[in-house]
Formats: sequence, C-alpha cells, structure tokens
Amino acid sequence: KREEVPATVHGIDPERVDYRAVDVVRTLKDAGFEAYIVGGAVRDLLLGLRPKDFDVATNATPEQVKGLFRRAFIIGKRFRIVHVVHGRGRENEVIEVSTFRAQVDNVAAEQVAGNEKTSRSALAGMQHAVGSSGRVLRDNVWGPQDEDATRRDFTLNAMYYDPETQILVDYHKGLADAKKKTLRMIGDPAQRYREDPVRIIRAVRFAAKLSALGFTLDAKTAAPLVDSQRLLADVPQSRMFDEMLKLLQTGHAIATIEQLKKLGLSRGIYPLLDVVVERADTAFVRAALTDTDRRVGEGKPVAPSFLLACVLWQDVREGWDRRLQAGEHPLPALQEAIDSVFDLRIGDVSGRGKLAADMREIWVMQPRFEKRTGRIPESMVAQLRFRAGFDFLRLRAEVNEIDEALAEWWQEFSTADENQRYDLLEQAR
Ligand code: ATP
Ligand code: MG
Repeated sequence: KREEVPATVHGIDPERVDYRAVDVVRTLKDAGFEAYIVGGAVRDLLLGLRPKDFDVATNATPEQVKGLFRRAFIIGKRFRIVHVVHGRGRENEVIEVSTFRAQVDNVAAEQVAGNEKTSRSALAGMQHAVGSSGRVLRDNVWGPQDEDATRRDFTLNAMYYDPETQILVDYHKGLADAKKKTLRMIGDPAQRYREDPVRIIRAVRFAAKLSALGFTLDAKTAAPLVDSQRLLADVPQSRMFDEMLKLLQTGHAIATIEQLKKLGLSRGIYPLLDVVVERADTAFVRAALTDTDRRVGEGKPVAPSFLLACVLWQDVREGWDRRLQAGEHPLPALQEAIDSVFDLRIGDVSGRGKLAADMREIWVMQPRFEKRTGRIPESMVAQLRFRAGFDFLRLRAEVNEIDEALAEWWQEFSTADENQRYDLLEQAR
C-alpha cells in the first residue's frame, strides 16, 4: 500500500538534501516524468545521518534520462543506469539515476535465462542485457514504482522522497520500522537471500552501521541468515571481494565484526573475512580497524591495500622469519614470503594487480625504515607510497612492535628541511 507521508510527520530536513539531486529531480519532473530521491539517501536523511551519495529513481528510461542532461552517461551491464554529471570543477557530483524496475518472479526470470533468445522479446519493456543468469535480465525489466519498491532489500531502503513537495513515499512501512529501530527485509527473508545472497552481507553491513543508533535486525530477517550463508558460494569471487571491502571500509568495521559474531556468521562468508574476524582482537589488526573507522568518520579516504596489508602482516612476518631462519637473504626472503601470502590468502581476484602492488610496497618499505643511512631516507620520503608505508610503521609503533622513536624520527625527517635532515641523519648514526 502506498503511503504518502508529509514533512510534518517524517521530519526530513530539506536543507540536508544535495542541491544537485534536487536539480536532477526537478529536470525530470519538468519533462513530465516521475522522479524521487531513493534508497540509502532517504534512509540516512530520515535517521538524521549525512548521506554519502544521492540516488534518483524515475519512470524515464535510461535513454530518456540521457536526453535531458548535457553530461549524462548510460553505464553498467548488470544494471543499466545513468550517471548525470552535475556542477563544475570541485562542485562536480555524479547523481545516479535508475529507472523503476519491475518485480519479475524467479520462475519467469529463470525461463528467460534458460531460453534467452526467444523469451527476451516476450517480456514487455525488456532491455538488452549481457549475461545469461535470470538475475541479470530480471533487473533490467522496467516497471511501476510499487514494484521498484518491492524488489529493494530493506524497508528502510525502499522509500522515495520528493524534494519539491517534501513528500515521502513509503510502501513497506519503512517509516514505522525507523521509529521501531528495526532493520527488516521486505518479503520472505529466506527467499530474498536465495534470490541474491549478497543481501546476507548487506544485512550485516546495515546492522553494523545502524547499531550505533540502536537499530537491530528484525528476528525474521535474522533467522535464516546462518542457513543461507552457504548460498554465498555461488556469488562471483570478485563481487564477494568488493562486498567484503565494503564491510570493512564504510566506517563501521569494528561494529561489523561484532555483528558477524552476534549473528553466528563469524566464519564462512569469505576466507579473507574469516582471517579479519579471527585477528580482530589482536592489537595490530584492532588498531588498523579502529584507525580505518576513525578516518572514514572524519571523511578521509581509506585504501583497501592498507587495511589488507595490516590484516595479512602476521603471515608475511611469519613466512619471512621462517625463510630467514633457513638462511635466505632478507630481501628475497621477504619477497617470497609476500608471494606465498598472496597465493594463500588473496587468490585470483580481479583488480588484484594494483591492490597487490600497493600492499607489497607497504610491506617492502618496512625493513627499509630501519636503514637510516646515506641516501636511503631521502629516496624513501620521495616515494609515491611513502605515506602509506609510514602510516603502517606508525601503527606498528602504536602496538609496540617497533620502537616509538623510530616512527617519530621518520615523522620529523619527512617534514624537515635540508639542514634538519642532515642533523637527523647524524643523530641516527
Ligand atoms: P550505502 O549508504 O551504503 O550506499 P545504500 O542503501 O545506498 O547504502 P547501495 O548499495 O548504494 O546501498 O544501493 C542503493 C539502493 O539499491 C539500496 O538502498 C536498495 O534499495 C537497493 N539495493 C541495492 N542492492 C540491493 C540488493 N542486493 N537487493 C535489493 N535491493 C538492493
Ligand atoms: Mg548508496
């Protein structure tokens, strides 16, 4: 049932709505389409949080949307959406505009998948989609707003906000759930996890994010989680890897680990995540997670390579020590230890190249921090990734793995002028 909730009831502060999103909605509405701010932004506005981005949903097709904006790009294979670039220079912002999608039940979707060529044209409004899974195709069937709401995951994520009228459109009692501080899956949770197992991870992520506000997962939403966990085996590894990073990098890593334990999911979601959970109580990984949460909270960027380098540092050190004891030379021993950690822990994930290179650089810098002679320190601070390597060193000092004075020396050296550097080098002799 469609509920239209006025501002006096939902209390969203219109000042907090990004003007660029407002502009995009207005342009679409002026052209005769329906358009709303949707999803996470509405949830965050309602809860008094600052949305990290603003998505728009409309009944205009991607082509129609594209036609209305000067800089708009249709992107995505899985989900065709439009990126509308708004503003100039530093004000530049991408507003993601998606077309209302229909709810096609699983049976229909599987028929489409099994018999792609003939059924494709049978479904009205079906757009071209790459791939052969029912899910892929299903997500590109346009439909009315109420169906768009129903195929979303949580009631809190399925509300629409019109910034002009300030009306909140709510089909699934999201507002009531916000008041009850409940995170509830729309529909039958077990079935929703079957349709898309990534929702299991999203449940953990939002439970962690909103736990600080006193939210809990609704009992029926939480109940099938443990049994559904095995379904994650069918999710492509690259998507799992990305979802794992989202769990750790959205500013609620510590809360996420608590949720995983509480929900009975501390093992088996993803191998690397198991390692994080196992090590979350070690001083070093704890410090890294806490630091990541703090940085995100302050709006600073975080790099997945840094966090993963922290998580796997224990393995690198152990492998390195073993090789040193076997009489290998330090540098090749370190490189080999790193190679074997990648093979064992990261595996073949797309995008691993750059990530792995950055992790390796952080690790290889560590023994070099101990060499404070000649031109080494100069070349270290000139290195592109010095900051990451140094932050890593500082974290090691924080947990007393190395002498605090060493980290302080590098702190001073990196900000010193030529004369001061000379003195510092003398000091380090
Ligand atoms: P965040 O603040 O972390 O970005 P979000 O709610 O905006 O949270 P997104 O991943 O950006 O999350 O997705 C935007 C919206 O799309 C969600 O609010 C939800 O309505 C819908 N959605 C995303 N992923 C799924 C999914 N796997 N199943 C159903 N709906 C989804
Ligand atoms: Mg979002």
